[in-house]
Formats: sequence, C-alpha cells, structure tokens
Amino acid sequence: MSGAPTPLLTALLIDGELVQGQGFVEPILNPATGEVLTQIAEASTEQVESAILAAHRAFAGWSRTTPQQRANLLLGIADAIEKQADYLARLESLNCGKPLHLARQDDLSATVDVFRFFAGAVRCQTGQLSGEYLPGYTSMVRRDPIGVVASIAPWNYPLMMAAWKIAPALAAGNTLVFKPSEHTPLSILALAPVLKELLPRGVINILCGGGEGVGSHLVSHPKVRMVSLTGDIVTGQKILQAASKTLKRTHLELGGKAPVIVCNDADLQAVVEGVRAYGYYNAGQDCTAACRIYAQAGIHDKLVAELGAAVGSLRFAGKRDADNELGPLISTRQRDRVASFVERALGQPHIERVTGAAVHSGAGFYYQPTLLAGCKQSDEIVQREVFGPVVTVTRFDELEQAVDWANDSEYGLASSVWTQNLDKAMQVAARLQYGCTWINSHFMLVSEMPHGGLKRSGYGKDLSSDSLQDYSVVRHIMARHGQHL
Ligand code: NAD
Repeated sequence: MSGAPTPLLTALLIDGELVQGQGFVEPILNPATGEVLTQIAEASTEQVESAILAAHRAFAGWSRTTPQQRANLLLGIADAIEKQADYLARLESLNCGKPLHLARQDDLSATVDVFRFFAGAVRCQTGQLSGEYLPGYTSMVRRDPIGVVASIAPWNYPLMMAAWKIAPALAAGNTLVFKPSEHTPLSILALAPVLKELLPRGVINILCGGGEGVGSHLVSHPKVRMVSLTGDIVTGQKILQAASKTLKRTHLELGGKAPVIVCNDADLQAVVEGVRAYGYYNAGQDCTAACRIYAQAGIHDKLVAELGAAVGSLRFAGKRDADNELGPLISTRQRDRVASFVERALGQPHIERVTGAAVHSGAGFYYQPTLLAGCKQSDEIVQREVFGPVVTVTRFDELEQAVDWANDSEYGLASSVWTQNLDKAMQVAARLQYGCTWINSHFMLVSEMPHGGLKRSGYGKDLSSDSLQDYSVVRHIMARHGQHL
C-alpha cells in the first residue's frame, strides 16, 4: 500500500512556528514494507527548552479562557481532522503498517470523537457544593488547570493516543508539549499546521525525538508541572524517578495482559469471534488485547480447536488492503521480541502450538497470528506482556481458580468474562482487579467511560470526565464575611 504519493510533513511546532528539528536525523519506516518513508530531525536541546518556555508563557492567557472558548477550538480541531481524515488515515497506515481501511474506520473516527467529547464535557462539569462550613465564611471549590503538561505517546495508535492526551489537557486549560513516539510522528506532524492555525501561539508544541533525549529533558524540566505517559512499565518507572525531583504530577497508562475468563456456559461462537478479532487487532499491539484465556474444562477443547481454525484464517500482508485484518509489528526489534517470547514458550514441553508461531516470510515486520495452548499460570508467556499477535490458553476447573489466576498478575488494565449466566458474570466482574471488565465482550471503548489501569498498569484515567479531573487541580476558596444578616 505504499504506492501513491502522500505529503509527509516533517516540521515540529514550537511557539507557534513550524520549524525543522535541529537534532539527530532519524529515518521513519513503513513497517509493512521496511522502506524508509522520510527522515525527521529531532528537536535539539535548545528547541526543547524553547517549546517548554513557550508553553509556560502561553499558560497565563490560555488558562483564563472560558470553557466555551476552549470547546469551540476543540470542535474546530475535530472538524479539521474529519476533513483530512483520508489523508491522516493514509499516513497512519503508512507509518504503522496497519490496514488503511481500519485506520480510517477506527482510529480516525475515535480521534474525532475524543475532541468532540471533551469539547462538550468541559462545559458541563459538576462538583462539590459551595456553602458555609464555618459560620461567617463561605467555601467554594474551583477546578483549575495545572500548568505545562508534557505528554508522551506510544506507537500503537499514534493519532488516537495524541487525541487522548491533547484533548483533555487543553480542555482543562493546560498548555502542552507533546512528544509522539520516535517511530510514528507522521500523523501528528501532519496535524501541526492545523493546530498552529487554530490555537494561540505556544498553547501546543510538538517535538519529535527519542525517550532518553527529548523525553527525559521534558520530564526533568522544572517548568513542566505534569507528565502524562502512555508506554511501557519501565518507562513509567524512569519517569516517576525523574519527576520526583521536581514533584510533578504524573499520569501513567502502562502495559496490560488482559485475562479472558471463558466459562463452560459461554457462547462458544461469540468467544471465538471475539478473541479472533480482539486478541489480534493491531497485531496484538494493544494494551487491552484479549491475550490470556482461561478456559473452563468443559469448553476448553472445543474452544482451542475452533479458535485455532479461526486464528489460522486471519488475513494479513495481502496485496488488497480491504482484505487485511491486521498489520505488522512496528519494528524488527518488536517482531524479534515477540518471536523470542514464543520460542521460549515452545521450549516448555507442556505448551502446544495450535497455530502460527513463526515470522512471516515476506517483506515487512509481520509475525503470524499465534495461538498457544496448555499454558500454565507460572509460564513467562502467561505472565508477561508480549505486545504482539500471540494468545495463550490455560485450562481451569473451578471459577474461583480462574479469578485468582486472572488477578495473579502485575498488570491491571483490562479483562473480560464470558458466560450466559449474568449473576456469575457480575460476581466475577466485581472481583477482578482491572480498570475495566467486559462481560461477553472485549476491547470496546467509548469516550464517555474512563480507561486506565490498576497495579503496574499505572494510574490516571484517559477518556471520560475523570480524565478532565486528572488534568486539573481542586482548589478551595474561602471568603470571610461575618454574619450581619
Ligand atoms: P515506550 O515506553 O517504549 O515508549 C513510549 C513513549 O515514551 C515514547 O514516546 C518514548 O519515546 C517515550 N520514552 C521512552 N523512554 C523515556 C524516558 N526515559 N523519558 C521520557 N520518555 C520516554 O512504549 P512503546 O514501546 O512506545 O509502547 C508500547 C507500550 O505502551 C506497551 O507496554 C503498551 O502496553 C503500552 N501502552 C499502554 C496503553 C494504555 O492505555 N495503558 C496504550 C498503548 C500502549
């Protein structure tokens, strides 16, 4: 799908100006073919400094705009994205290798919706009542922006992750320095001219660069008051350490290893269709991927057989975009990492390869959709996030055991339970230690509902009005007025 020319913009946005980076020059690849799409110069140390100072200067004005003014600008951004949706989807597809029709239908619609949601949400926030909690004094609560937010994004859904970070932070009245993943800057750079046009100077700055360079500069800067990261647990730990020096607020969306509990009375067809779709969507590079199945003994064998056949039928790397259901991994490094997880798993005599388990032989960084059965709770492949198209199946007898195993994880982002008995589903949902539990479904997100983890999956919510709260601070204003009447 590389074919037709698509303008690739490479300028960063700093203090209202589109400028080329002055740091290291990095090639940007198309993972579906391995070809170099363009070269992008990262921000230099001076440029990072300028961006932070621009955001700091812009804060005084932006933080005093009304919710209505900010909402109108967010709506303008949503409209501009919608207008360019075909172009942006094409860039997303080129830069991530994902099928174009999926980028257009899923990533772009969700991105537009997130800007529209926060435009509405910021105008109808609710809070604690004002009142006289001490005679002669009236107390009231304000919710105010925090200051300059450094937002650092991953590569799996570049534009959608940008929307999740930019929309609530701006809606709440903060200014931003946004850094996309060094692998996938193209879609947000394409949007930079629109953001420059619509927003006051300095309110948003976009910098390219790696984590250790530009990323850690942002995180350690004293004028940055909050850091928001979606990324790996190890990156989250580094950010926490750096942020502790200046006591910054942090908002961390880290990895996941979603358990999928399948009871004997589940609708087998629905489970097979659900896992086929949402265990492998985006080549499994999704922190909510349905990747860790616990199947009850009565349904286990049928599920493994039918799911194996279904996964084996997943289409990828074909010539016709519309036929492809998943794309490649983002890099050869990520593909090799996935391959080595599977290799180690298959080195265990009790683990059975049902389907896949090999690097795809053609061009691009593809790995075959893989299903492994016979996995035990203590296996590395069950415990660690693979972030690739690999799903495991572990058999259980009693539901109690499955709930314990599901919770026996360092991760706590997403989970699901599949049963036709709603009582049972509700009891299991109540006991799962995950930010989200789906019942007879998996993967569905909506802008109105909070998304975020527990345990080492991090803290802080994306989407929903909870996110607006995370990007703002509560303040108490107390007026002394005596008791004259
Ligand atoms: P990553 O942690 O390697 O990189 C994420 C971002 O952090 C990149 O922009 C990177 O440049 C930056 N970064 C890296 N080191 C840094 C440092 N020391 N200081 C500042 N910034 C730094 O993650 P990734 O490989 O891009 O993405 C995959 C990971 O993200 C997976 O673990 C996945 O589960 C997680 N993820 C989580 C969610 C969620 O909602 N919880 C969503 C998507 C991805």
